[in-house]
Amino acid sequence: MKAVTRETFENRVEITHGKDKFDLSEFVLKGVDTKGQVKCKVCGFVFMISPYQLTNRRGGCKKCWHRDMQVNRSLSWGEFLRRSKETWGDKIWDYSETEYTSILRVERIICPKHGPFNQCLSSHLKGMIGCKECLKDHFKEKWDKTTLQILEKSKEFNNFSEFRKSSIYTIAHGHGVVKDIQKLLPSTGGDKYRRCIYAYEFEDNHVYVGLTYNMEERRKARFKTNSRDSAFLYLKETGVSYQVKQLTEYISAQEARLEENNFIESYRSKGWVILNKNSGGGLGGFGLQWTEEKCQEAVNKVKTFKELREQNKSAYSSIIRNGWHYMLSTLVRDRAWIEKKVRKVRCITTNVVYSSLREASLASGILAPTIRNCAIKGAKNRSTQTYWEFVNE
Ligand SMILES: [Zn+2]
Ligand SMILES: [Zn+2]
Repeated sequence: MKAVTRETFENRVEITHGKDKFDLSEFVLKGVDTKGQVKCKVCGFVFMISPYQLTNRRGGCKKCWHRDMQVNRSLSWGEFLRRSKETWGDKIWDYSETEYTSILRVERIICPKHGPFNQCLSSHLKGMIGCKECLKDHFKEKWDKTTLQILEKSKEFNNFSEFRKSSIYTIAHGHGVVKDIQKLLPSTGGDKYRRCIYAYEFEDNHVYVGLTYNMEERRKARFKTNSRDSAFLYLKETGVSYQVKQLTEYISAQEARLEENNFIESYRSKGWVILNKNSGGGLGGFGLQWTEEKCQEAVNKVKTFKELREQNKSAYSSIIRNGWHYMLSTLVRDRAWIEKKVRKVRCITTNVVYSSLREASLASGILAPTIRNCAIKGAKNRSTQTYWEFVNE
């Protein structure tokens, strides 16, 4: 049995019975089931009780309990109504059919909303909800309140991956609002997925507008030979001097793509010649037509990462560049991994075929991962001087 410390014991007694109800100074704590001496501060009665019984609501001073029962039994109707009002406040119950003889009896009470139900009157006075429909409402209200709190709390996170690591995630999951929160928050944060808009303004009224996640790096990269970069090509061709302008702060990639078009339009309306090959909206050249929706469609069509990478490279890179990693969570790393085929393996040195790595390992005394490694790399196993390969069927 788990040991109880003096502190937790005293705390539990206080939680169950309230402060200053029992004097525990004579209590020798030996275990949860070993009785100790307790003095009731209310009536002065001294009795023996185990910590388990005392911290359980049913255990306590018997004298006080009997006295309370006596009082309860002789509780007048007027007193009953007064206590009901005290407990329930504005919530009104209909007692027109309640036959009052004792508080300890189960009687009929009418819920003004849902009709009659039966409940022990003392439980009723303690605030226990007897009407089943009201109880449902009560829990639903509580549930909705927590759900709202979760949604409210989720706004404090910068992004979904941050939220995912938090303790609220599990609760949110239980309340089924993870998907809503996912829509609310950007998927991941960090400068990696934030972009700023910049412009190369050439002296002859030509301009190039672009996006970058790192202004400094962008500045340096511009001087590397990059034949696909129209600003660089223009510079190489004309030699016109230019200045680089950072047009925005680092904003989310999605925002940046939309803003880029606005900047291009604004330059165009001021009479600049636009050097951008496309009219903007590319995340550094990518993701033009690959909206979040289209990417999701592409993901839905495949099962593994590999398939997505091979069959739809642009969708894949858009997902990575925009930080829509949540889409990839439905994919598995590799098809071989899901199907987990048992493959035959041959020891080249002895020319013996084994039906599985496990069998080969048992027969040769080499660890299965080691054999696998040798077979993949074509390497020799040093300790046994053997070569291995997988047998294709
Ligand atoms: Zn007492
Ligand atoms: Zn009700």
